[in-house]
Amino acid sequence: MAIAFIGGLVIIGDGRILEHGTVLLDGQRITKVIEGEMDLPPDTRKIPLEGRTVLPGFIDCHVHLCLDGGPDPISSVITESVPMTTLKAVQFARDTLMAGVTTVRDLGGKEEIALVLRDAICSGLISGPRMLVSRQMICMTGGHGWPVGREADGPDEVRKAVRQQIKKGADLVKFMATGGVLTPGVEPGAAQLTEEELRAGIEEAHKAGRKTATHAMGTEGTLNALRAGIDSIEHGVYLDDQSVSLMVKQGVALVPTLSALYNIEAKGIEGGIPEYAVEKTKRVKPYHLSSIRMARETGVRIAMGTDAGTPFNMHGENIGELKFLVEQGFSPIEAIQAGTRIAAEVLGMESDLGSIEEGKLADLVVVEGNPLDNIGLLRDPEAIKLVVQGGKIVKGNLDQS
Ligand SMILES: [Zn+2]
Repeated sequence: MAIAFIGGLVIIGDGRILEHGTVLLDGQRITKVIEGEMDLPPDTRKIPLEGRTVLPGFIDCHVHLCLDGGPDPISSVITESVPMTTLKAVQFARDTLMAGVTTVRDLGGKEEIALVLRDAICSGLISGPRMLVSRQMICMTGGHGWPVGREADGPDEVRKAVRQQIKKGADLVKFMATGGVLTPGVEPGAAQLTEEELRAGIEEAHKAGRKTATHAMGTEGTLNALRAGIDSIEHGVYLDDQSVSLMVKQGVALVPTLSALYNIEAKGIEGGIPEYAVEKTKRVKPYHLSSIRMARETGVRIAMGTDAGTPFNMHGENIGELKFLVEQGFSPIEAIQAGTRIAAEVLGMESDLGSIEEGKLADLVVVEGNPLDNIGLLRDPEAIKLVVQGGKIVKGNLDQS
């Protein structure tokens, strides 16, 4: 049966809006989108949207569904059992979907959990966001993320590590080009996998038709990844003129994950977060903010990603990231594009997702009020009245209201 959303503000996702739009769905796809009313097929279920806004389903380009958002989630995931991590991840996937995030990219977890979760969601066994999964992140021996990563040294071993991820079913490949915050004893500014190692790994992923992403904080490591042909830069703390101009030239997106550093700083050592992580966060955060501003002003495409699962960065609060982007100079409509159209491009799924257009998959979110007046509305799962994923209403019922 067709469903029509009538009379609401429609935020298309590519910068356009309709003041009183009608959006018609049939089956899994959007069949028509117009300003004003349209003749509807008989038996269409009509959902009036007066005072509400319909947006594309949001896409979070950087989550870790195996991490629980506790004060020291890496230690927890290493020590707890696989069944316990799996059960928690099932709940986190559900929380994420209920918050209006209909697609995520999982950039590193434990064993096969994220892959199994992806397949269970895809088959309809459990509810959750559509997932693209990197499986294990590839790092140098003792490099950032090693407790949950696949350590590899030298171009040949990195190549093999990539082949292993793809063999197991990874949708993309994640590298660790620099140090980071959550691993003790590594420096965020230091380069890790070399340019040669990254080039070998990226080449291997591209041969198999997989996109690549890299954790990147320090400038040298970021440049190594860019020269080696990476597709997205995660975090991007110490960007400089050369790295942002390479990103623009090569069409490489930045996924800043502001939520990660904000939550670590906000909860601090008092919240139980390890001291080394708090200290490093405080040190890198000012550079991170100026890098994001510089990237935006230079024309780098910026997509929403949260690093959900890191300390106090809870699954289901993902869309709070947009408020952080607005604080760094984004207009609300620009921030929404980062979480929809641009995020879909980062995933390589822009022909199916990321905007409310005819022919695309019907992933929609209905929110009370107008997020263009108050972007903070979107961070509250309670304000998300309805979630549609692939044409199916997975949250809410507006018929009686
Ligand atoms: Zn991450």
